[in-house]
Amino acid sequence: MRYAMAMDTRKCVGCSDCVVACQTENNVPLGFCRDWIVESVRGTYPDTVKMHFKSERCMHCENTPCVRTCPTGASHVIEGGIVKVTPHECIGCGACIESCPYDARYVHPEGYVDKCTFCDHRIAQGMNTACVDVCPTSCLIFGDLDDPKSPVSKALEEKDWYVIAPEAGTKPQLYFLK
Ligand code: SF4
Ligand code: SF4
Repeated sequence: MRYAMAMDTRKCVGCSDCVVACQTENNVPLGFCRDWIVESVRGTYPDTVKMHFKSERCMHCENTPCVRTCPTGASHVIEGGIVKVTPHECIGCGACIESCPYDARYVHPEGYVDKCTFCDHRIAQGMNTACVDVCPTSCLIFGDLDDPKSPVSKALEEKDWYVIAPEAGTKPQLYFLK
């Protein structure tokens, strides 16, 4: 089992429904988020200019500096390659935040570090992540890369894709469809 997510950059309209769904599903405190929208302008004014949106979150990297640098073992990897933090083991030192190339973690007001969990509590019940379920344009695709029939495997097989900052060497598992 190797969980991954693909994000179709051509379909995202930047509505932030994924961000709100995640905040609600995961009781993310006000003013914080586990996923976020990155906006950029592409093309040339006036003919080809257009806004470009990406929905980002923890990349659930295969090679995890956040886990390696954690002095207590709070940051760890579970089945399927999902990277998690155990709140009561976290001392809030911030080593994982420093080591993450994607700025994917934040300090929860209660003192521990928090981040996207790929909604593992939902996946365990055979559901999708909250962000995938709520996206009005279906631009988020989740599944098991070890299953060639999974939606994410098919998307990566059929379309061109890229990952952000591959030079960091973390082997991120959030793929962006071109
Ligand atoms: Fe760790 Fe950052 Fe990769 Fe998430 S994106 S697994 S927090 S290094
Ligand atoms: Fe580990 Fe918490 Fe320190 Fe991050 S802040 S390295 S999860 S103890």
